[in-house]
Amino acid sequence: MLATLRRIVQDVSTAPDLPSALAITVNRIRDTMSVAACTIYLADEDNREYVLTATAGLNPQAIGRIRLSHEQGLVGLVAERQEPLNLEDAHRHPRFYAVPEVGEENYHAFLGVPLIQYRRVLGMLTVQHTAIRLFHLDEVDFLVTIAAQLASILNHAILSGATQELLNPSSTGTRALQGVAGAPGIAIGTITIPYLLADLDDVPDRPALDPVAEKAAFQAAITAVEQELHEAADRLAPLLPPTELALFTVYRMMLSSDSLLNDTLDRIQTGSWAPAAWRDAISSRVRLLGQAEDPYLSTRAEDIRDLGRRVLNHLRAEPTQSLEPAGTHCILVAEEMSVAHLAAVPLDRLAGIVCLRGSALSHVALLARAMGIPAVLGLGDRPLGRFEGNTIIIDGYQGRVYLNPDAAVREEYQQLIVAEAELTAELRGLREQPAMTRDGYRIPLYAKAGLLTDIAAVSNSGADGVGLYRTEFSFMVRESFPSEDEQYQIYQQMLTAFAPRPVVMRTLDIGGDKTLPYFRIEENNPFLGWRGMRFTLDHPDIFLTQLRAMLRANAGLDNLRILFPMITTVEEVDEALRLLERAHQELCEDNWPAARPEIGVMIEIPSAAWQAGQLAQRADFLAVGTNDLTQYLLAVDRDNARVAGLYDNLHPSMLKAIAHIIAEGHKAGRPVNLCGEMAGDPGAAVLLLGMGVDSLSAGPVSVPKVKWAIRSFTLTEARNLAQQAAALETVSEVRQLLSDALRQAGLGEIVRKSV
Ligand code: PEP
Ligand code: MG
Repeated sequence: MLATLRRIVQDVSTAPDLPSALAITVNRIRDTMSVAACTIYLADEDNREYVLTATAGLNPQAIGRIRLSHEQGLVGLVAERQEPLNLEDAHRHPRFYAVPEVGEENYHAFLGVPLIQYRRVLGMLTVQHTAIRLFHLDEVDFLVTIAAQLASILNHAILSGATQELLNPSSTGTRALQGVAGAPGIAIGTITIPYLLADLDDVPDRPALDPVAEKAAFQAAITAVEQELHEAADRLAPLLPPTELALFTVYRMMLSSDSLLNDTLDRIQTGSWAPAAWRDAISSRVRLLGQAEDPYLSTRAEDIRDLGRRVLNHLRAEPTQSLEPAGTHCILVAEEMSVAHLAAVPLDRLAGIVCLRGSALSHVALLARAMGIPAVLGLGDRPLGRFEGNTIIIDGYQGRVYLNPDAAVREEYQQLIVAEAELTAELRGLREQPAMTRDGYRIPLYAKAGLLTDIAAVSNSGADGVGLYRTEFSFMVRESFPSEDEQYQIYQQMLTAFAPRPVVMRTLDIGGDKTLPYFRIEENNPFLGWRGMRFTLDHPDIFLTQLRAMLRANAGLDNLRILFPMITTVEEVDEALRLLERAHQELCEDNWPAARPEIGVMIEIPSAAWQAGQLAQRADFLAVGTNDLTQYLLAVDRDNARVAGLYDNLHPSMLKAIAHIIAEGHKAGRPVNLCGEMAGDPGAAVLLLGMGVDSLSAGPVSVPKVKWAIRSFTLTEARNLAQQAAALETVSEVRQLLSDALRQAGLGEIVRKSV
């Protein structure tokens, strides 16, 4: 059953167009299950109808013509229930709806399963039989399994507009793809693929600008992999049994097979660049082998794929064609995005970021926000990578993208871009003004930074200093750990740029989704694993080097504050302080005039929140990291698009936890800063002010908006707001309270953009 299933899916995914794919599906299912009819209905969401789009066994004339409303017939019932419907005689069911021209008078047994992707019903798959009988459980399982595969294929088709064309050939509207708002702003530009992807399916189509060079690069990549395999076999020879070792010989034989090499070279000759030529040559072999019923041969398909990836890695390492992005407004699109991906396009041409994975609090989103570049994340399983060079609009406020937008959508967004520029210009006037409430209470408003390139953005934002400098970003864009001197140079530039204003430097916070290309940490639950202080305390060498570099950079400036991330226990703080003392001592012995800076502890883990008082006694200040605190308190992965809807730092439990941390910090006589993304949300910032936080650290792009909001309220109003929020039970009530308050204060413009 599994092999048959795989074959059907393979045929379907290689069909030339959607109607053929659907026709193949229904025919194959009818034959495999020996049923009288198999039919697909697709959802036409615009008209709230299900359209008969493919059938084997019903009247072919009905295709495209039979449209059932959501309430009509068994098809509508399957969609409503969102689960299989198995009937021995459909005619006797009260929801049966007879459509004479369909030709199902003699069919009794009915099995319908919904085609669902990401909670959305995309259509229905049905089988019918002349007999009066229930379908067996294994038949139901088969249809459900194939429906899941078909739903993901349909999802691609919806993206490319193929289903729209099929359902409403005359319609021209542009459909929005909904993701998660990663960083605010709107951009119109050209899809550009940062070509760092190791997966064959993500290789974009590009022409070979110099076929001779492409061929040479390809041959070199093959030779390199041959060498790699040779070395691997030698290394593993003492460890592996001969049968396993033979696999390396098989790999090398596959690699040197004339047909694979010539096929690729021919494709390059006819105009494709090497990575895409290799992708296609590999895919056709994977398809052939995958069709084999023999499990041995289908396993070989996996081997070929693996070889494909290895060669691609080499082609990638030395690309013959540098990425020459089309147009001046590039929208980078990738499945996952690292700092290195962002560097694929010159900064002045980077207009936006689209990342298929991730959520509002992924580090790519934070980076985008810090850079002031709109970003949409978590679009899920959509093959956007194949649309390189196409136009795309990204709406970082609503978390939407529009692929190849029509003129009307384009016009609407052009106008929004103009309105946004006007608002930014207006807010620029606040640059020199303090973040002071209408009744004269001034709260320090800091900005966040990650790279030296952020200095300009932070300076222009009108912030009172840097409230969180994420030092790991400068570790992430390198090939190896930076030396003490290299770090010293970076930190000194940062401190000098803002002196005498404070710069809070957080010690290395890697792990979770922040990995170093030169120090991979493989874990099942990285967010619960070797992160932040846990890592640095296990590597005192790395920690001490960083602390020394920071202390040296601070000499003569004295605006450094150091922050410890991911603190779980008081012992960790004690140990970190001991190491800091040691670094300080060493510098004193070397005659460095290093002053002891103020030390902060991040409260971003529930255990730290409940021990905030004890932690505060060991430090000079606390910094609440709501990004992680939300993830750990609500048990919602900050990076998982599927549960992004649950991730909200305005959850009433979060407000309770923050209130507790503030109270404990104050009881110990220590100020409490809030440095999660929450501080950059104007409504939340006013709420936090009312709750009693002593300072806020927002992204540089958000600083002017937050300042505007704070300057529009009195401290008393903010406190009242905090009191009302504390009594609410749901996130939506809290959000409603804040947006009403902002509107009343005349900040409707901000509310519209932050929904
Ligand atoms: C946080 O967790 O709120 C925080 C500021 O740290 P990061 O987002 O870098 O993990
Ligand atoms: Mg954190």
